[in-house]
Amino acid sequence: MSISYWLDRTTSSSKKTYDYVIVGGGIAGLSTAYWLQKEQPQAKIALLEKNRIGFGASGRNAGFVTCGSTEHFMKLNSKFGTTKAIDIWKFSEENRRLLLEQIIEDKASDVDYQQTGSCTVAPSDTHWEKYKEIAQTMRTHGLDVQEVQSSAMESDYGVTGFTGGIVYRGDGFVHPVKLLERLKAKLKIDIYESTEVFSIQDKKHIQEVKTDHGVFETPKVLLTLNAYLPLVLKNFAKLITPNRGQILVTEPLPKFVKGPCYLTKYLCYFRQLPTGHLLIGGFRNLSIETENSLMDQTTEVIQKALLDFVKDHFKYGKDAKVAYQWSGIMGFTPDEQMMIGATPNNPNIHLMAGCSGHGMGLSFHAAKVLVGSLFGRSTPEHLNIQRFKGSF
Ligand SMILES: Cc1cc2nc3c(=O)[nH]c(=O)nc-3n(C[C@H](O)[C@H](O)[C@H](O)COP(=O)(O)OP(=O)(O)OC[C@H]3O[C@@H](n4cnc5c(N)ncnc54)[C@H](O)[C@@H]3O)c2cc1C
Repeated sequence: MSISYWLDRTTSSSKKTYDYVIVGGGIAGLSTAYWLQKEQPQAKIALLEKNRIGFGASGRNAGFVTCGSTEHFMKLNSKFGTTKAIDIWKFSEENRRLLLEQIIEDKASDVDYQQTGSCTVAPSDTHWEKYKEIAQTMRTHGLDVQEVQSSAMESDYGVTGFTGGIVYRGDGFVHPVKLLERLKAKLKIDIYESTEVFSIQDKKHIQEVKTDHGVFETPKVLLTLNAYLPLVLKNFAKLITPNRGQILVTEPLPKFVKGPCYLTKYLCYFRQLPTGHLLIGGFRNLSIETENSLMDQTTEVIQKALLDFVKDHFKYGKDAKVAYQWSGIMGFTPDEQMMIGATPNNPNIHLMAGCSGHGMGLSFHAAKVLVGSLFGRSTPEHLNIQRFKGSF
């Protein structure tokens, strides 16, 4: 992020002072404000957002509130071993429990939340055999998964041409922006939209957060910028990689998809909205170079692949008409697990970033961990920023 001499009006405007300044107004920033306010109800908190609340990935995602696909569990299992993989899965289960307890409460219909389970679709016999095996491991460790045979894939999920699927029953979906609005309504903090941060200067334990609308002074800054983090802290450029995700939504179709689905072969996911609109996203592996971007833009290659998939694989998809096409930017760490904690170069800047394609399934709980890190509580090893020490 840079600003020109002419646009920089910070010297002439008065400074604002806060106990905490949060930067980034997505699910991570709002959740951080929520837990911070709970920890210190009297604290003066500001949240700065360069566009408006939810304008980043948080208002552009598919609304899956999930622990991830069966394939995701398989990867965790081979990378970290079964015990750790189960812990990571349970972190997301706790995220959902906390969201329901603290934010959604008994108002599920206000945010279009439904617990439908999610299904990982097997694209081949080989995948199906591997999925059944890992599902058995998941069940042994108490995760609520079941197999769906090929015929039920068609009747329950409306997809043809797949061998079977594994359903994890805890998952669900939400209207992401309605969820953000409900979260925001619980906050008693100052929210500054259209306020872009372009630098943070360490002035003897006071942090000067420079924005295009003046300077904010605070002892502690919390950065919840996800993919955009390296634009503010340049030394994170090697640790956070942006990845664009694209989505297509059709005009409403008859109801036929029971809940969120993953088809990880194409990094593809789909669900039907309560209105009948069919949402499908993914296929970024078709064009990895163009999708490694911070730019909000849809491309013909990926949008065509999404529409072709709808036409080829869905019961009512043949004549589907496009209603919406959009993109959003995710942030990935090198090991695809989030990083949380104080920056090694400045203990007064804490951050969380890199929630990949799972921010709705992670961020509310992760924000609780982030606030805990401010008050000296421990951070799970696989999320701790310290694991990247030496890479800044
Ligand atoms: C297409 C797509 C589909 C997805 N689907 C799902 C899904 O179904 N389920 C799921 O769990 N996850 C999904 N994700 C991932 C999920 O959306 C993200 O992990 C999550 O929203 C990240 O939240 P965040 O608050 O960390 O980041 P963001 O929502 O990106 O928020 C960062 C904010 O920082 C602001 N900002 C940037 N720079 C500055 C600056 N200099 N000053 C002030 N503000 C700044 C941005 O405007 C933005 O609002 C998807 C992502 C995409 C792109």
